[in-house]
Amino acid sequence: MKNGIKRALITGISGQDGSYLARYLLGNGYEVFGASRDAQAASFTNLSKLGIRDKVKTVSMSLNDFRSVLQALVQIKPTEIYNLAAQSSVSLSFEQPVETMESITIGTLNLLEAMRFLGMPIRFYNAGSSECFGDTGGEPANEATPFRPKSPYAVAKSAAFWEVVNYRDAYDLFACSGILFNHESPLRQKRFVTIKIVNAAYRIAQGSGERLKLGNLDIQRDWGWAEEYVEAMWLMLQKEVPDDYIVATGETHTLKDFVSEVFLNFGLNWEDYVDFDQDLIRPNELLVSKADPIKAYHDLGWQAKYRMKDVARMMTEVIRDDWMNVR
Ligand code: NDP
Repeated sequence: MKNGIKRALITGISGQDGSYLARYLLGNGYEVFGASRDAQAASFTNLSKLGIRDKVKTVSMSLNDFRSVLQALVQIKPTEIYNLAAQSSVSLSFEQPVETMESITIGTLNLLEAMRFLGMPIRFYNAGSSECFGDTGGEPANEATPFRPKSPYAVAKSAAFWEVVNYRDAYDLFACSGILFNHESPLRQKRFVTIKIVNAAYRIAQGSGERLKLGNLDIQRDWGWAEEYVEAMWLMLQKEVPDDYIVATGETHTLKDFVSEVFLNFGLNWEDYVDFDQDLIRPNELLVSKADPIKAYHDLGWQAKYRMKDVARMMTEVIRDDWMNVR
């Protein structure tokens, strides 16, 4: 802390959560540093869209390279680190398992090791994932539910979660994981299904004449609004004692419901425009994802305000305003 100002380092700043978190922390008086694998080449479009590009200091950091991590921490001297960088796509993780594992498990380990090595009083947030739970037989997962990961991504996130627990227990580091369920926004990468649906429905409403191809429409997820989830990350690091928390709405819906809601927002019936595509079925599909986020409510005072229908509406409203097409 310099002159009482808190200094945050966000890895994966160019992503959806990194950009919203940066805006949130700047609003709370933080000095914000953002790490990208190549800060010179990255365009940081999401930061620009949020109007904060010139307020965030960006640095290059390779999470797989301990020297690079150590150097960044020595230079920046953060009071808080938010580790959001990852190969974050479940489907891509089946095609790039090693890249996924390394970016998540080695990346998290390098940050924890660097914190331990430097002995600086840094508070550490790690981006955990609901994918770690796998299928819970329709039961809502809480913080005590065992992990049964069903993808390379989920395996990596599970390992990183236990790295955090171990470094907290063994070395008394202030380290937490947020086990976040799906959260969406117009800043979501285009490869993710929610933004793909919103973009396609918009183009169809404009008369493109195309058809939207989707995989299993019966999968069930808990969809929240990314902008409010970043507050939960921050709240975890303000507690006296570090701990892990589920962050979710507590409501689960099928993908079919989400598709239907988005198309309705454009005045369309989804059944007239959507085709099933076998190629989009994953080798090992997580069917039902359900959350019990009561601990975050009790301990952090955090509760999701927006649910799936709000998320679908807000995403369609933004694309109608043509804001997303800046990309
Ligand atoms: P994004 O994919 O939008 O952003 C992640 C960032 O990580 C990218 O901008 C990129 O930054 C960096 N990155 C990408 N691939 C790699 C790689 N192979 N090695 C190192 N860095 C990489 O993710 P979100 O903002 O949506 O999510 C933030 C974190 O939360 C991620 O760890 C994700 O797995 C996790 N999460 C997200 C959920 C969601 O619903 N959004 C749910 C649960 C967990 P750059 O190219 O600048 O280096």
